[in-house]
Amino acid sequence: MSADTLHVRDLTVSYSGVPALSRVCLNVAPGEVLALLGPSGSGKSTLLHTIAGFHSPQAGEVWLNGRRVSSASRSEPPERRDLAMVFQNYALWPHLSALDTVAYPARRRGDGRNVARAQALVILERLNVGHLADRHPAELSGGEQQRVGLARALARRASLYLFDEPTAHLDSHVRGVFLAELVTRQRDTGAAAVYAAHDAEETLGLADRVALLAHGRVIQVGTPQQVYREPVNELAAKLTGPVSVLTSPGGSPRVLVRPEWASLDGDRDGRVVEVWFRGPHSDYVLVTDQGTLLVREPGPPRHERGAQLTWRLSHSWALRESTMTAEPSVSQLPSQTPSSVAVPE
Ligand code: ADP
Repeated sequence: MSADTLHVRDLTVSYSGVPALSRVCLNVAPGEVLALLGPSGSGKSTLLHTIAGFHSPQAGEVWLNGRRVSSASRSEPPERRDLAMVFQNYALWPHLSALDTVAYPARRRGDGRNVARAQALVILERLNVGHLADRHPAELSGGEQQRVGLARALARRASLYLFDEPTAHLDSHVRGVFLAELVTRQRDTGAAAVYAAHDAEETLGLADRVALLAHGRVIQVGTPQQVYREPVNELAAKLTGPVSVLTSPGGSPRVLVRPEWASLDGDRDGRVVEVWFRGPHSDYVLVTDQGTLLVREPGPPRHERGAQLTWRLSHSWALRESTMTAEPSVSQLPSQTPSSVAVPE
């Protein structure tokens, strides 16, 4: 059997006969962070819950650390699996202070009270809630409760962590701290993680590899750079960030252009129809004879709506016409190592 922490093989899960996951295949190595990126309803939560043992598959298998834990005929209960799952809402025990909540996993492992509490305080401080250590949940705001819940998850030790959009309701600076803490912890402990999100930027920055989900199927698996620069189709491109689809002279093939692959001042004509100042950079929407193009440049806007100007491309990615569908065939997947590619049937 493979040495992977997690091995998901041909997993199919249905609700009342309607498939939510279809023949999903994934591997996660020890210490690896795999992000699941997909729109709402694409099957991310169903996949995490099935890995955790809350759902049983209709077909396929889940293996953890070389042991089969789920199949159509037999599933081990969640508490027998060596994993920790963090949901969007972090139910805290009302009778425990933040410090005791976060110290609890270490106490269960047999650490002494003072040791467990000292470790807990370090984690709370890293998430900027150390000063609230003595408070109970009723005395904490919603965002503070979430940070205590995340701190409790980080205090647990498991070979696999499952995160279901854990940062969906956090302020961006807290989210950054949490994600940095998560990655540090992974490296320290060698634990693997599967992290479901719909925020492409956050996901690409966090993950070692990204699995793109659409309609219950994995449509591409690769490093963040692979899925961003070489999407298997237009849908995959849209899941990983803003993109324009241009027609080449002659109409075919169509090419994908990320906003930073285009710049102003070149040899092609365009007209500005929208300008957005975004802080570190500005976005322009141009109408061109190859289609609508989003251009991103550093700094404040240099042009106004209605301006006629020129543009050029530093890079583009050609789509094969047959990759226009949501479900690529084997031959349409870019070359990657076999273990990093889930091949839909
Ligand atoms: P995501 O986490 O990507 O938003 P989900 O796994 O929650 O996606 O949902 C995948 C599909 O399964 C959706 O079509 C959703 O409506 C359906 N689904 C999820 N949970 C249930 C359920 N308990 N009963 C019936 N259908 C469900």
